[in-house]
Amino acid sequence: MLKLKNIKDLKTVQTPFWYYDMDLFRRTIDTVAAQSAEYGVLVHYSIKANAEPRLVDYIAEAGLGADCVSGNEVLYALEHGFPAEKIVFAGVGKTDEELRDALCAGIGSFNSESIEELETLEQLAGGLGLKANVSVRINPDVDAHTHRFITTGLEMDKFGIPKKDMDRVIALFKSSKNLNFKGLHFHIGSQITDVENVFTHECISANGIVSHFESQGLRVDNIDLGGGLGVDYYNPDSHAIPEFGLWFQTLTEHLRHRPDQRIHVEPGRALVAQCASLVSRVIFVKDGERKSFVILDAGMNDLLRPALYGAYHKIENLTYESDELRLYDVVGPVCETTDLFAEDRTLPLTRRGDLVAIRSAGAYGAVMSSTYNMRKPARTVFSDEPIQ
Ligand SMILES: *Cc1c(COP(=O)(O)O)cnc(C)c1O
Repeated sequence: MLKLKNIKDLKTVQTPFWYYDMDLFRRTIDTVAAQSAEYGVLVHYSIKANAEPRLVDYIAEAGLGADCVSGNEVLYALEHGFPAEKIVFAGVGKTDEELRDALCAGIGSFNSESIEELETLEQLAGGLGLKANVSVRINPDVDAHTHRFITTGLEMDKFGIPKKDMDRVIALFKSSKNLNFKGLHFHIGSQITDVENVFTHECISANGIVSHFESQGLRVDNIDLGGGLGVDYYNPDSHAIPEFGLWFQTLTEHLRHRPDQRIHVEPGRALVAQCASLVSRVIFVKDGERKSFVILDAGMNDLLRPALYGAYHKIENLTYESDELRLYDVVGPVCETTDLFAEDRTLPLTRRGDLVAIRSAGAYGAVMSSTYNMRKPARTVFSDEPIQ
């Protein structure tokens, strides 16, 4: 159960708010930093998961790199203290302006996702008199066994360069004047829970692709295996810190690599999901013809994941305990039928005015929020700061 350490009066505290457990956050980052050092894996935090400045600053100070998917994320990472050489930039649709800004900053790697992008980079870098550090994102056609909407490494997904084009890519690098070939990039999806099985498959696929590039005379210095490490949305307290060690062990064991080759990863969700909850108050409890609705003052505009991917989040009542269990649809106030946090969820009897926590909301939560229905953004509360 979530404990709101620094909030005295749960009856009157203003809702909804994002509650950050900063102690858990720091322990998570310290753990990933220590375990990645132990296995010799370089970690780039995927900033899109949560761009809260306090988190990003701590991650930069811990020595991790940044994985960005827009020009603004690259600029943000630079402003927050990530050295340019520790920034990688992926994405299927980078504009000329975004490419130019990142080139001028001298980032560590463009993770390029199409032949047209490589040709554009070659031209832009030439025009600026610069060299672009480039890794090639290959679509390995590996099933992440996760939700269809968050798989990215299958042939029908828009991400990466298809394997059939590898030889064109190799030829392009050989004739290029302005591209430094750094290595290969893969990212097969998100919320991967079958860690050993899925990441072993990714490594086996990567091994073949790395050998192909090297057999054609391109030296692969960096092998970036992407993000995707899942978290336990069902048991946030018993699995508060993901199994980074198991992930690194699986990758270093199954990826064929020489000591001079660097293994990179780009976790987003795993570093931040468990450290925040969305805390909300029950406005009404309505008994309909066929269902009972718990209506919260937080909505899909605050936390979109349930509406967007049918994502599961654990919901806890922080102020009322009851032995009586009921079946509820937990919904928000937004005028959309998909504004639904949980369908047919068994919860203890819930009443108007109760405070509830939607757990594991630190990743892809606040960053996806909007002001739809002219709603005010939920505020941010840190466990280690006094609140008003
Ligand atoms: C989103 C993304 C990640 C992070 O994914 P998580 O599932 O949050 O770990 C890593 N790499 C790339 C290229 C991404 O787009």
